[in-house]
Amino acid sequence: MVRRVSIFGSTGSIGCNTVGLIAAEPDAYDVVALTGGRNVAKLAKQSRDLNADLAVTAHDDCYGDLKDALAGTGVEVAAGAEALTDAAERPADWVMSAIVGAAGLPPGLTALRHGTTLALANKESLVTAGRLLMQTAKDHGATVLPVDSEHSAVFQGLVGEDIAAVERVIITASGGAFRDWPDEKLASATLAEASSHPNWDMGQRITIDSASLFNKALELIETHEYFGIDPDRIEALVHPESLVHALVGFRDGALMAHIGPPDMRHAIGYALHWPDRRDLPVDRLDLAQIGQLTFRAPDERRYPALRLAREVMKAGGLSGAVFNGAKECALDGFIAGRIGFLDMAEIVEDVLTKVTRDSHMMAEFTLENVTEADRMARSVTMDIIQSRQG
Ligand code: NAD
Ligand code: MG
Repeated sequence: MVRRVSIFGSTGSIGCNTVGLIAAEPDAYDVVALTGGRNVAKLAKQSRDLNADLAVTAHDDCYGDLKDALAGTGVEVAAGAEALTDAAERPADWVMSAIVGAAGLPPGLTALRHGTTLALANKESLVTAGRLLMQTAKDHGATVLPVDSEHSAVFQGLVGEDIAAVERVIITASGGAFRDWPDEKLASATLAEASSHPNWDMGQRITIDSASLFNKALELIETHEYFGIDPDRIEALVHPESLVHALVGFRDGALMAHIGPPDMRHAIGYALHWPDRRDLPVDRLDLAQIGQLTFRAPDERRYPALRLAREVMKAGGLSGAVFNGAKECALDGFIAGRIGFLDMAEIVEDVLTKVTRDSHMMAEFTLENVTEADRMARSVTMDIIQSRQG
């Protein structure tokens, strides 16, 4: 049976890996929509190669270029945030959510309302609106499959198990670019230094978030939101080799570890073929050659992001949206050279305190309120960055 698929964020790191897996079996898929940002040439090439029905750029000012690049191909072209959500209205059996940031939430929610299977790489939508996302899936008989490597690993560890028998979940962290740096060097870490990951090849934003451990902070919240596991039962563990992706601990003391190469095509391919397992073009590990796997506790003093994630999980409500919005905006500030590496966590903490104090964080959990919490967090973050510079 030919499956209808759409890929949101097809030009990114996860998106390109997804396109690669689909392109390898052209007869098995009918590509409905591909979406990207300013990388018009790449989006146009993917759309041609996969013979997509529709190509959407998130930016209105890229419309003309995309239209020109796809002239005569029969691929329909659209632009803008609304066009992204419209693209998610088109019936598809499987949708990859691989936009980076909270911008991935509206198309994901729309796809779920159509009862589709949503492969979720966009962790920000679980952090900002996990409850809404999971409830929408439930209400419409849709399925959400985690594509983050750790969460795919936990998901696989739970196949055939009773969630009530789970005592704890451990997600691993490489430790990021600065894991072996002395504390005093961190404040002056540059953008280039933060943008290079020791083990994984990923988009720039998640790579920097790995260096600050904000990525792991988001993933703790993601674990809580997706699996409904109590925050006290979720642990982060530094594992520099990035081969064990997660472990599920059961009430009888057993720990089930998921081990595999640091290659996102595994988690993407697992979600693509679920509930089956199919051949995937990833390296096979030679454990005898690897010899040893090492683990250590993360330093929560050095990486306040982990502590902040625990506070967010405890507070619940819209605090996840505030946390993520502030983090995205502080990251923009670091990328633009306006603030230093350590300022990001300081500012996010400040914003969390301010916004959760000044607003009605217990407000009803609707998309409008999530969007408002996100907007407010970004605005307060921008003010703080401005005042630090001035
Ligand atoms: P990336 O930066 O490489 O790609 C992001 C994609 O989103 C691109 O197609 C870009 O055009 C699009 N995009 C960016 N901003 C947008 C906006 N405002 N509106 C619409 N589209 C926009 O990112 P990535 O590394 O592929 O990560 C994608 C998502 O997957 C993120 O949520 C990330 O946390 C998650 N993730 C990535 C990896 C990885 O290995 N790269 C692993 C686990 C989870
Ligand atoms: Mg991950």
